[in-house]
Amino acid sequence: MVSPTDQRTDDALRVLRRVFGYDAFRGFQHEVVEHVVAGGDALVLMPTGGGKSLCYQIPALVRDGVAVVVSPLIALMQDQVDALTAVGVRAGFLNSTQDLAERRRVEAAFLAGELDLLYLAPEALATRATLALLERGRIGLFAIDEAHCVSQWGHDFRPDYLNLSMLHERWPGVPRIALTATATQATRAEIATRLKLTDARHFVASFDRPNIQYRIVPKREPRKQLLALLRDEHPGDAGIVYCLSRASVEKTAEFLVANGIAALPYHAGLDAATRAANQQRFLREDGLVMVATIAFGMGIDKPDVRFVAHLDLPKSVEGYYQETGRAGRDGLPSTAWLAYGLQDVVQQRKMIETSEGDLAHRRNLAAHLDAMLALCETVRCRRAQLLEYFGEGGTPNCGNCDTCLEPPESWDGTVAAQKLLSTVYRLDRERNQRFGAGHCVDILLGKRTDKIDQHGHDSLSTFGIGTDLREAEWRGVVRQLLAEGLLAVEGDYGTLALTEASAEVLGRRRTVTMRREPERPASGRSGKPRGAATVVADLAPAAVPVFERLRAWRAATAKEQGVPAYVIFHDATLRQIATEAPTSLAELSRISGVGDNKLAKYGEGILGVLAES
Ligand code: ADP
Ligand code: ZN
Repeated sequence: MVSPTDQRTDDALRVLRRVFGYDAFRGFQHEVVEHVVAGGDALVLMPTGGGKSLCYQIPALVRDGVAVVVSPLIALMQDQVDALTAVGVRAGFLNSTQDLAERRRVEAAFLAGELDLLYLAPEALATRATLALLERGRIGLFAIDEAHCVSQWGHDFRPDYLNLSMLHERWPGVPRIALTATATQATRAEIATRLKLTDARHFVASFDRPNIQYRIVPKREPRKQLLALLRDEHPGDAGIVYCLSRASVEKTAEFLVANGIAALPYHAGLDAATRAANQQRFLREDGLVMVATIAFGMGIDKPDVRFVAHLDLPKSVEGYYQETGRAGRDGLPSTAWLAYGLQDVVQQRKMIETSEGDLAHRRNLAAHLDAMLALCETVRCRRAQLLEYFGEGGTPNCGNCDTCLEPPESWDGTVAAQKLLSTVYRLDRERNQRFGAGHCVDILLGKRTDKIDQHGHDSLSTFGIGTDLREAEWRGVVRQLLAEGLLAVEGDYGTLALTEASAEVLGRRRTVTMRREPERPASGRSGKPRGAATVVADLAPAAVPVFERLRAWRAATAKEQGVPAYVIFHDATLRQIATEAPTSLAELSRISGVGDNKLAKYGEGILGVLAES
């Protein structure tokens, strides 16, 4: 006899294999699926790329009734529905982008029980018409995606999410599953309370993303450094470049295009149509680089983003982790690269100092920035430090971040710190003047600039006492003192000022260990230059041309059908096909990512491409 649980397990596995074409569940997907299929509530915390979607999509197929998926990502609903349709799942969405006829069609399908999943924006659930519609249908499950949007402290707060606690009251018998990739403890707790999911079972995955290589490099000429990264390590790859301002987004995109890289801009200053068009192209075409402010990215589930580069310092570790997490959802090697320099620290400290909001708010911003700076300046494994920040302590060194690959030297910077701090002290106390970092460094180096002559700063006792360090090293000293709060920036000009902690260094009660500034930019990944696009790098040479032909076939097919390339097949699937070179449909069906529907639709096409090879 088969017990009901076994039966459901069988159903779930069968759906995983036949519909999605995957062999096995990943991590705790299976447990979540079983729990939800059996009618339990769940709160699922998994990093980006962890495989959250299947946690509700499979219960949606196994349970009776329609699964209603609440998602804030209106612009992506079409793609989500396309991806499900491609594997033969009946899905639809209702949102403000539709015309009435389309809406009526989806509503009718919902009422007739002809949908497995229905995507809705949270604001729709605040309207009486939608609620009335839902009342008339049969709902098997509520999935609340991007559940961190309910957090009032997070940067993605959506007031309509607060309303979602009513689902439980109106449909007490329908299980709910909330999902997010936001990792902090505080947000988790807030989600559980606000969505009334306190009795739900919590599933918390490790937030490690082992396939992402974390690198934080000293900023020199950021655009050129970026270009070198793209040319040396990611030619032809899709990626995202984050910049702080709209102006630098525009300039960086132009620079890349002028240098032969297919790049598009995205920021809130562009009109909605351009933004939507650029996002569409990024999702649909292979190998585009999106240069964007952080306005871009939430819910972008393009699996083959091979790198995320930051040209400016993110404001928090949470933001950094979320943004870099958009790389490598498909589990293939990817790069998270950040260029960081003195000017970033000055600028961000200044922004906080002049920001509106009360003291508590500014303290909160400063604490977030401090954690980000600590990550930049660490001589430890970046991944270990990141995971510790998210509450996963005791992680061993990863061997896949810059500090593991090229351990930075540290040095005793106490004397250098004293020289710099005492320059700031003398300017302030003896002359009642404040200056920025550049001028203070000039004084230490004994430079004869107009500004020094004009103010008679050559008579300061610290003038010329710093010739033992290079200018770049002095900038490193200033940056690290700012990062550690041993120095502050003030006012609109970002002038330097002492802090309470400075006195400890000046009074020799505190030593300062610093990260050594490298002589010249580290040249890519040490000992392992890539020189080829990541996706083909570790393919057998014979498989590379086959993979390229499969990609070309996929691009043409995607264009013909008006869907993103990854909706046809993921890179990982094409790689496996190129490597294993199946010769029959039966063999092809054993490749991960080839489910029944795709086999029927594309099987002959693939075998045709392989036969030509
Ligand atoms: P998330 O929503 O957590 O960021 P997704 O649900 O988009 O992640 O899944 C990330 C990628 O992993 C997708 O490309 C998905 O198809 C793939 N994936 C998910 N679960 C499995 C599995 N059990 N086996 C193979 N691939 C999987
Ligand atoms: Zn490491």
